[in-house]
Amino acid sequence: MSTFKAPKGTYDLLPPDSATYLAVREAISAPLRNSGYGYIETPGFEDVALFARGVGESTDIVTKEMYAFETKGGDQLALRPEGTASVLRAALEASLHKAGNLPVKLWYSGSYYRYERPQKGRYRHFSQVGAEAIGAEDPALDAELIILADQAYRSLGLREFRILLNSLGDQECRPVYRAALQEFLRGLDLDEETRRRIDINPLRVLDDKRADVQKQLTDAPVLRDYLCDACKAYHEEVRALISAAGVVFEDDERLVRGLDYYTRTTFEFVHDGLGSQSAVGGGGRYDGLSEMIGGPALPSVGWALGVDRTVLALRAEGVELDLPSPTSVFAVPLGEEARRALFGVVTRLRQDGVAADFAYGGKGLKAAMKAANRSGARYTLVAGERDLAEGVVQLKEMESGEQTAVPLDSVVAEVAARLA
Ligand code: ATP
Ligand code: MG
Repeated sequence: MSTFKAPKGTYDLLPPDSATYLAVREAISAPLRNSGYGYIETPGFEDVALFARGVGESTDIVTKEMYAFETKGGDQLALRPEGTASVLRAALEASLHKAGNLPVKLWYSGSYYRYERPQKGRYRHFSQVGAEAIGAEDPALDAELIILADQAYRSLGLREFRILLNSLGDQECRPVYRAALQEFLRGLDLDEETRRRIDINPLRVLDDKRADVQKQLTDAPVLRDYLCDACKAYHEEVRALISAAGVVFEDDERLVRGLDYYTRTTFEFVHDGLGSQSAVGGGGRYDGLSEMIGGPALPSVGWALGVDRTVLALRAEGVELDLPSPTSVFAVPLGEEARRALFGVVTRLRQDGVAADFAYGGKGLKAAMKAANRSGARYTLVAGERDLAEGVVQLKEMESGEQTAVPLDSVVAEVAARLA
């Protein structure tokens, strides 16, 4: 057995693939940064009580998937399984909602931890980019977030994703539906654990992924038939605004989500090339969450998109991101004196913003040219004793193989001009 092994359910991001992850985070956050969302960063762990209250005691995330632990000082903490509760906690702590400028719009990017059964697209450490708009009830805000996520996926070149949309009602109409659903579910043939779930969180039973359970749910009452007039009107407005933006979505009256705190607008982004881990992102409105964690009433809406699954979706569609080569110029010194001279050139190129790298370790010409090739650089600078004696370096264009002697003192300007 190898000594070097990442923990089960985790993997490392390594070059060159890691560049794709950076590009995905960049692409998802770009529309947010362009729409009034400010960047927020919170700790990787929180008091376990925040998630217990905020995500919900009856959710899989809290009961099965959370990395909870006691510190040496006796604090009960948990690695964050999701971002919303932390972001809301931080906003409340800093009183961002009192600055008189609602909604507070925030975006984040980071690592999340869930003790899950590892599978393709399901890991114990994964990465999300998310957005939260806190403190406003306005269908345009729900629509904005869905439109921005759609824009983000499209900007990456993804096409085979679908947007599923539903409304979960509010504290007025949801209890009526909940009771009707409980009555229906109690008549089904379900295992002990699922029966318990009927009491604490019946909507979650609708989200059960097992086929034998799904088969029994065909005639389950649907929330849409129970929505109050206010929820209906709100949902219609969200739908109209998304449609007017040209964003295609599907009404999915069975869509519920894993977290307890959702109200009204609920949506999920699914990708058809991913097999069973098809959700690339999801979100919705969470009007009651602030009060659940002890804050004031702050109706809010947000989403989180999974970076890992988005990368898998890109692969599934065969999308190649147009990533610029990380190195433009590669310097190959032959001998001590050339090493000093070219190292100086590389330093000045970098100071001028040109991506440059160097053949380290005293490589011979052959190995150094191989390294130059691997770097993807457009130009290689080669210099040996004879070149330096003449005050020049050889500037080689890698694609054509064309080589020119350039005076050492003007090579930085020459390279910059050619790259411009
Ligand atoms: P699923 O139903 O697949 O378990 P979820 O409803 O638990 O997803 P969310 O809590 O909504 O997922 O998280 C938002 C996104 O984060 C998901 O759509 C997915 O892309 C990603 N995600 C969630 N859990 C994992 C995981 N264990 N590994 C990789 N990505 C994940
Ligand atoms: Mg899950």
